[in-house]
Amino acid sequence: MRRGMYVYAWDLWQEGTAAVTGRLRDAGLNAVSLATAYHAGKFLRPHAPGGKVWFPEDGTVYFRPDPTRYGRLQPQAAAMVAEYDALPALARDAGDFHVTGWTVGLHNSRLGALHPDLCCQTPFGDPLINALCPSQPEVRRYLTALCLDTAAQPGIGEIAIEAPGFQTYRHGHHHEFELIALPEAVETLLGTCFCAACLVRIKAAGLDGDSLAGQARRDLEAFFADGAAPVLNPQTDPDWRALQACRADTVTSLVAEVRAALTPAVCLAVIPSVQTPNALCWREGSDLAALAKVADRLEMPAYQTGPAAIAQDMDQVRA
Ligand SMILES: [Zn+2]
Ligand SMILES: [Zn+2]
Repeated sequence: MRRGMYVYAWDLWQEGTAAVTGRLRDAGLNAVSLATAYHAGKFLRPHAPGGKVWFPEDGTVYFRPDPTRYGRLQPQAAAMVAEYDALPALARDAGDFHVTGWTVGLHNSRLGALHPDLCCQTPFGDPLINALCPSQPEVRRYLTALCLDTAAQPGIGEIAIEAPGFQTYRHGHHHEFELIALPEAVETLLGTCFCAACLVRIKAAGLDGDSLAGQARRDLEAFFADGAAPVLNPQTDPDWRALQACRADTVTSLVAEVRAALTPAVCLAVIPSVQTPNALCWREGSDLAALAKVADRLEMPAYQTGPAAIAQDMDQVRA
């Protein structure tokens, strides 16, 4: 059985690859999932020998990418990679470990800020720079290239894509301000993309994207005006259910494209949601049953505290 831990390159670098993996081995672990493409954050590190807090560079990768694989969306290695390249170090010091390249996919504010035309938008057309849009052909090309590039690094046995598709309006951006409570339906509508590439897919699904976007704008404007206006339920309204199915197909087909492009020797896992509970993953375009068919496995995060809450969530996931 594989028992692994999520690890970060900066911890391996500063504590020592052999020291960290030795400790994991002593604890009975035989796998690591290394963040090979990752977002910003602020990490408290109780074990770190030097500084205790680390701010990773936003939207960077922890290997040396091959720029010729990519189009407009070019990955950037974190500055620390010049001094420490984690995957060759793991292959050298922990060759007995199974290594997964934990790949944050379409959540990349660095690339989003550079290319707002490839981002998801609100129904009002505001680019959400934290979220690259999975309907955009250039974004699909980027994710496939990123996974192939990562798979070509030393020792990689698996790629695990986190954020393979759409993201909800809220995501934990720096100082996200609303100052009003956003009901679930409002947050869903605000985070529903009708960019040109989405409209093409929506039309191909036999839906009228312009009319759905107009409906979203009207309901959101009414809510913004008095905070009480009822808004349509995007989970139960028939047209919106069809739209959710179209969005799910956008994400499932993207994962299938990555799987088809990857060498069969490398497994493909999908972390389909960052929602709590996971049942809210439909808002990200994640259809768990469909994703389980095109990926080799799903990796479900459990952000709850305590076994009871986690067990309940996992029961829902299995259903
Ligand atoms: Zn983020
Ligand atoms: Zn879009």
